[in-house]
Amino acid sequence: MTDYKHVSAEQWLEWDRNHIWHPYSSVHSPVTPFAVSSAKGVRLTLADGREVIDGMASWWSAIHGYNHPALNEAAKSQLEAMSHVMFGGLTHQPAATLGKRLVDMTPASLTRVFIADSGSVAVEVAIKMALQYWIGRGRSDKHRLLALRNGYHGDTFATMAICDPVNGMHHLFNKVLPQHLFADAPATPFGETASDQDMASITRLIEQHHHELAAVVLEPIVQGAGGMRFYSADYLRRVRALCDQYDVLLIADEIATGFGRSGKLFACEHAGIEPDILCVGKALTGGYLSLAATLCSEELAATICSGEAGAFMHGPTFMGNPLACAIANASLDVLLSSDWQSQVAAIEQGLRSGLAPAREIPGVADVRCLGAIGVIELQQPVNMATIQPRFVDHGVWLRPFGKLVYTMPPYTISPDDLALLCAKTIAVLSEEHAQHG
Ligand code: PMP
Repeated sequence: MTDYKHVSAEQWLEWDRNHIWHPYSSVHSPVTPFAVSSAKGVRLTLADGREVIDGMASWWSAIHGYNHPALNEAAKSQLEAMSHVMFGGLTHQPAATLGKRLVDMTPASLTRVFIADSGSVAVEVAIKMALQYWIGRGRSDKHRLLALRNGYHGDTFATMAICDPVNGMHHLFNKVLPQHLFADAPATPFGETASDQDMASITRLIEQHHHELAAVVLEPIVQGAGGMRFYSADYLRRVRALCDQYDVLLIADEIATGFGRSGKLFACEHAGIEPDILCVGKALTGGYLSLAATLCSEELAATICSGEAGAFMHGPTFMGNPLACAIANASLDVLLSSDWQSQVAAIEQGLRSGLAPAREIPGVADVRCLGAIGVIELQQPVNMATIQPRFVDHGVWLRPFGKLVYTMPPYTISPDDLALLCAKTIAVLSEEHAQHG
């Protein structure tokens, strides 16, 4: 009989190789994951004893770094009370408090919170809310969505259908996905006024299709996994105006940008606009547990539950998980009692100066920063199998994809660690260029 408890690292790594699916991976891939044994502050300790500075905040989520005393304490005390109970017919203080806090920190019109268990589900819920809202208003013909090219909203079926259908990672499924509409991605960079040319595609689509459009869905200001691009706040403002003019809902997917990452608490604030439906996730629990939420207005909620529908039919088993909600409440305490705006602004400055030398490396197409996000775009895609071990050898944890080498570190990173992270990133890219041209 296999002894599962006393197992060498070699043995469990073999089990991992033989049986485990990793994100976005092929079983034929030559890229072997690094074994990590612990994480504290902004550092991950690998099973072989090496330490790396985390430049990824575990995909935008670990904003306070790892092993945070306040979050640990919240988890421990909630565990003593209860780790989970079903949310159907029961409620508890961690969920109710989280709901109130989310309502208090988001635009005033958003008063109803659906607590979901992942970002993709939060976006699915937003889509269902939008469709059911129009059914409630007797307009079931408004059943299509309009998303942006280069957009990314998740890996489940409804969310795959609003990811970029050409360059996105889900095009294999195009034939079986609902057919939505896609506007050209905004090309006007952040900080500039959107040109009429930039508005042309989305304006034309809304004008032509508003009678069948339930909602526009977009990632405000930062298009993440679809290209790490920062676009014009003016574009977002004008899309909001178009939605108002043509009676189309606006769904803001702030799963990645929420809770300060772009320099504002929510990226919509850059444009001074309020979405009709807002999705948050990732950093909600400071990266401790999977939790997300979808917020909408009282008017939307009332219409959704009116007429034949009567109720909103969605209820994940782990909805409102008390442990995750308690940690989320602690994470919001830590965030809102800190000077996060100065921290993020300092990180933006540190990234701007630290990554600037990358512009001198041949093969670098662009370097851009916004809030606590730094992006180096290359002319050619990186080879993950060779570049990832190099980053680790230099003591940093980054996970590039395609032509993008990017970082979104925990907000707690020190100026020295940030400078090191940038210097090592540039050292690796210079080495890569020297070796492979
Ligand atoms: N929307 C956006 C903008 C995201 O970046 C992501 C995750 N990368 C999702 C939705 C999906 O979230 P999750 O991975 O938690 O399902």
